[in-house]
This record gives sequence, structure tokens and C-alpha cells, in this order.
Amino acid sequence: MKSIVKNYSVLTLKNASRTELHDKLGLTSCEISINELPAGASVPFVHSHKQNEEIYIILQGSGMLFIDNEELKIKKDDVIFIKPNGKRCFCASKGGILKFVCIQAKINSLEQFTLNDGIINDIKPSWLK
Ligand code: ZN
Repeated sequence: MKSIVKNYSVLTLKNASRTELHDKLGLTSCEISINELPAGASVPFVHSHKQNEEIYIILQGSGMLFIDNEELKIKKDDVIFIKPNGKRCFCASKGGILKFVCIQAKINSLEQFTLNDGIINDIKPSWLK
């Protein structure tokens, strides 16, 4: 029997305080996590990375970011880029949850993107026919 290997994976997020997509979707170029801190809660440690930079996209709520001994207010729609050495910690404000996406990728690993990497194909979905 021939097995069919698809070129995609789909995951529906369940209510979890943290979901790491690398294992669930088979990602090979980055780790993406969806995170939710309850109102008033903090990540219980300050961390940095050996080789990965991180991009945090705040989806909901507000809170504080500790970064290299600075403390910054953060809120929905903020996008934060942190180099590997940045010593960071997040907490949610007392008024509600802080929900954010974290994308983690190896520093200087991006080689091509958008127009340099994209290929326009000649097949079409039903809505373009
Ligand atoms: Zn991290």
C-alpha cells in the first residue's frame, strides 16, 4: 500500500497555557509557541538563549517585559525582537491574561524569503478559476 505524504499539517489549538508547535506540526526551521499567562502571573525565571533569537507577538492583554535589567510595559499588538543573549522574563498585568506567540529561530539562519524564495505556480484554487 502506498502511503501519501502531505505537504502540510493542521493543528487546532486547545485551551492550554503553552503549546509548542515544533513537535506537533513537524517544524524544522524554527520553534513557535503559543503562550498564555494568567492575570498577575509571571514566567518563574529569567532566560536567554545559546543561539536562537526570539520574536514575541502579543495577541491579547498587557504586562511587563524584564529585559537586561530594564522593565518595559507591553500590550496587545506589540512585536518584540530579542537577540539570544537578552535576559528576559514576562509577566501578565493583574487585569487579565497575557497571550503571545513566541517564534524562536537560529540567529543569522535566514537565507531567502518572500520574493527571493517564493515560486508562483500555475495551478489554481477554485476561487481563482
Ligand atoms: Zn526563549
